[in-house]
Amino acid sequence: MEMRLIVLQNYRPTEEIISLLEDFRCMVNDCIRLGLRESLTSMKSLCMKAYHQLSVYDVPTCYRLTAISRATGLLRNYRRELKKRGRSARVPYVTKLSLTDCYGFRVIHRLVRVPIRKGEYTFIVLNDHTLRSILSHTPRSLTLTPNGLSICLSKEIAEIEPVGAIGIDRNLDNVTTADSAGNILRHDLARATEAKAPCRETKSHFKRNDVRVRRLVYGKYGRIQRNRVSWLLHNISASIVRRAKEKRFGVVMENIRGIRKLYRKGNGQGNTNRAKLNSWSFYELQRQVEYKARWEGIPVAYVAARGTSVNCSICGSRTYPNGRRTLHCSKCGISIDRDVNAARNILAKGRRGVRFTPDGPPEVRMEAMKGNETTTPILRADGGKVT
Ligand SMILES: [Zn+2]
Repeated sequence: MEMRLIVLQNYRPTEEIISLLEDFRCMVNDCIRLGLRESLTSMKSLCMKAYHQLSVYDVPTCYRLTAISRATGLLRNYRRELKKRGRSARVPYVTKLSLTDCYGFRVIHRLVRVPIRKGEYTFIVLNDHTLRSILSHTPRSLTLTPNGLSICLSKEIAEIEPVGAIGIDRNLDNVTTADSAGNILRHDLARATEAKAPCRETKSHFKRNDVRVRRLVYGKYGRIQRNRVSWLLHNISASIVRRAKEKRFGVVMENIRGIRKLYRKGNGQGNTNRAKLNSWSFYELQRQVEYKARWEGIPVAYVAARGTSVNCSICGSRTYPNGRRTLHCSKCGISIDRDVNAARNILAKGRRGVRFTPDGPPEVRMEAMKGNETTTPILRADGGKVT
């Protein structure tokens, strides 16, 4: 299975680069116009017509192909929209500056060399994170915008045959894991809740009744909070995946789509912003664990959330709350930590490999791990899936 990963970084574009981006934008729009006028649908037919016309632009020829390819994609979407919506489909026209290159760029030491004109290059310094990420992988393409550059890497993934599993239970204030070797580990999330406190205060002091300004401020603090939580989740997910890799364990998580735990009392319902951040961070942890695990060839499974927080992880019978954080099982006659019990239940379900929810994320079900799935997931280093 081939997997792609996109690494993003900031840079300051020179005037040369901006003018190259502008040329590329015009080239794509030229191709779109040509494609519409002559009803060209395939990359090949568009190439035959457009390639020579694009020579009016004083840019290296490598950009002609990627401009044509971009236009082909936009035209294909447009045709799909036409079929679905009829005349209300918007005729494609590119306004944003964004250039993709697959053939011309080279990574040389700390620099990426970008062709500007025939035989002329400009260089962009890569930061440490980007350099670390692209080490020992094949850079497939480079995308430049006025604000950032991204490099798409590909890697051939050989999925490991796991000898055990790690069950992950995500709670409001911690992440608890239980593995096949009997280890229990708890990652504290209290710092994330702490980090949220000052922001909440700022919001509650914000009394001006101007929707526009309020949205701006909320948006800004929302972003800061998310970045903080995201950083914390990044550390936790990296540490879980590192352990999984060392022990050759698969990873098992709950399918949290629509589960009540997210909306449990004290989880922030009643305050939309907090509730949103909270449920976002549940998904964010899973997303991070999933792409990091898959990048290492570690199988990922999702199990149904039903019963994981109430049933006894030893005998399976129903437990009853015994204090704030512990559960009591009358059949076994024991008291057990609520989160440890849930993590063990998740682990047990994953190990049995049964009760996989039919509505779980399609590409991560167990069947996919056995190689029945042919789609290649494209995951970004920074955020959501790219389509
Ligand atoms: Zn029991």
